[in-house]
Amino acid sequence: MNKDYAVIGLGRFGGSIVRELRVLEMDVLAVDVDENRVNEFIDIATQAVIGDTTDETVLKDLGLGNFDNVIVAIGDNIQSSILTTLLLKDLGVKKVSVKAQNDYHARVLEKIGADVVIHPERDMGRRVAHKLASSSVLDYLELSDEHSIVEIMAEEKLSDQSLLDLDIRAEYGVSVIAIKRGEDIIVSPDPTVNIQKEDILIMIGNDDDLTRFEKSLTR
Ligand code: ATP
Repeated sequence: MNKDYAVIGLGRFGGSIVRELRVLEMDVLAVDVDENRVNEFIDIATQAVIGDTTDETVLKDLGLGNFDNVIVAIGDNIQSSILTTLLLKDLGVKKVSVKAQNDYHARVLEKIGADVVIHPERDMGRRVAHKLASSSVLDYLELSDEHSIVEIMAEEKLSDQSLLDLDIRAEYGVSVIAIKRGEDIIVSPDPTVNIQKEDILIMIGNDDDLTRFEKSLTR
């Protein structure tokens, strides 16, 4: 078995990662200290095992040091999450991705070498806020603290104008990287192409610039 991924902590977050990786046909080792949780994943994960990952011998017995990708989705128990991350990095796991409960937890995780720190609730909250704040924003994806990708409904306001006419890049400093038109996706659209009412513009840029653009649509 090629156990590409290991997921530690089978709550809603860790559990959904296991399910989705399986949909993507990846091999996943699922680990939790709670037997009931492990039982739920016996038929879903490639292998599901009971184990306390704050115990170094458990990690070694499971061969976790040989994994390229380990996801630590331990919830409220911040101490266990930190200790598990530290041990995994010591064992030489290339990429350890960890769910953070709050900003302090995130800062500690970054200091001890976590490769990816995930803030699912915070990120989803931001995403929902952007969608709620503007009826034109269909989706929002944070790329960094300052940059995002947004999907914006063109609607009446932008229709029948080309990107050249709108001069969005010069005016707002944001770029249209693709246009969704029905089933089609026009990647790197030609600036002379005319926007249609039902087009969805996929835009990338600095958050402040994107917000200025979003606001201009509601005026
Ligand atoms: P969500 O369900 O939204 O993901 P959550 O992040 O609070 O919420 P929990 O429901 O707390 O997640 O799930 C975390 C899982 O991690 C639990 O199933 C728990 O048993 C498991 N866990 C906690 N400590 C350890 C540990 N030391 N070793 C292995 N698994 C652990």
